[in-house]
Amino acid sequence: MRGCLEDELMEICQKIGLKRFRAIQLFQWVQQKAVRSWDDMKNIGKNDRQTLSTHLHLYALEKLREQSSKDGTRKYLFRLEDGETIECVLMDYSRARSRDRHTVCVSTQVGCSVGCTFCATGLEGFRRNLSIGEIVGQVLDITHYVRQSDPEFMVTNIVFMGMGEPLLNYDQVLKSIQLLNHGQGLNIGMRRMTISTSGVVPKIIQLAKDNPQVGLAVSLHAARDEIRNNLIPMNRRYPLNQLMGACQEYTHITHRRITFEVALTAENARQEEAEALAQLLKGQFGHVNLIPVNPVAGTGMERPEQEKIKRFAQVLEGAGISVSSREERGTDIDAACGQLRRQWEGELK
Ligand code: SAH
Ligand code: SF4
Repeated sequence: MRGCLEDELMEICQKIGLKRFRAIQLFQWVQQKAVRSWDDMKNIGKNDRQTLSTHLHLYALEKLREQSSKDGTRKYLFRLEDGETIECVLMDYSRARSRDRHTVCVSTQVGCSVGCTFCATGLEGFRRNLSIGEIVGQVLDITHYVRQSDPEFMVTNIVFMGMGEPLLNYDQVLKSIQLLNHGQGLNIGMRRMTISTSGVVPKIIQLAKDNPQVGLAVSLHAARDEIRNNLIPMNRRYPLNQLMGACQEYTHITHRRITFEVALTAENARQEEAEALAQLLKGQFGHVNLIPVNPVAGTGMERPEQEKIKRFAQVLEGAGISVSSREERGTDIDAACGQLRRQWEGELK
């Protein structure tokens, strides 16, 4: 039911003999007020609630763990109805409200089939796609939990950068965006939502056509196929020339700047890699975000020294490319995607 748009709820209400306005109330309770149970829907009478609950299924995610970092990052481990677990992160949250930007990093799949060698989620393999209700539910449940101590709390930004490859769960992700953007729901602006992809070429082009307003981040990580093949196995299917072609087409259609994510390891934070990257991005309307890799046990990847990151950035800047260096968030709570789930599963074994 958390995956239903207003008109779908209307149709159901009509079918079971309830007034249309019940659907509007229902939608607001679920999508705006983020309630987790039928009993909380105060302006819907007991009888109607009873009828609705026999026709609609409301499942709220069960919070298994919550970790708070010193820098205002909170990480949640949620249990889904079938027992699978997913991670979700709230960034930039401060009680002092000195900042008004609250970003939620959402998962789109349980596990991931892409299998990037530096990623904790990739190491676990693919389990299943998340439903629309499970994707939107992460934002709703975080909203619910934070509002217990901060009733005015609103999520302002969404990044699809949690577990899974969003463009391999395309339809569900697009409809989730529609729900999160809904005026009677959380009303999060399209331009405040960003999809991150490891490079599913045909879907990048489809996204440009279907929703030109939503932001796109491309996990590039390397500018040469021989290196990228080892980091992101999907590069063998969609190599860099195809990926960059899709990016050109994306900007041509949307006129939007792409963020290129580059995770730097002790190995790839080198001058020649920076130069290859500068060459690859020549003429591309984009921005590079440098991230020191988050070391995940079993991957053998290590972080480069700060000085190396700085030099890498200077090469790109020298070539006229806009660069930022993402300050690491939540490192004291293992905020890299998939790490908390892995830790939890390890404890269960
Ligand atoms: N599947 C999508 C979105 C989820 S991953 C994608 O790959 O883009 C979100 C981001 O986290 C990606 O840029 C990914 O490359 C990065 N990431 C994954 N594991 C990481 C790690 N251990 N250290 C740094 N970045 C990591
Ligand atoms: Fe999947 Fe993204 Fe992790 Fe790669 S980095 S395995 S695409 S979640």
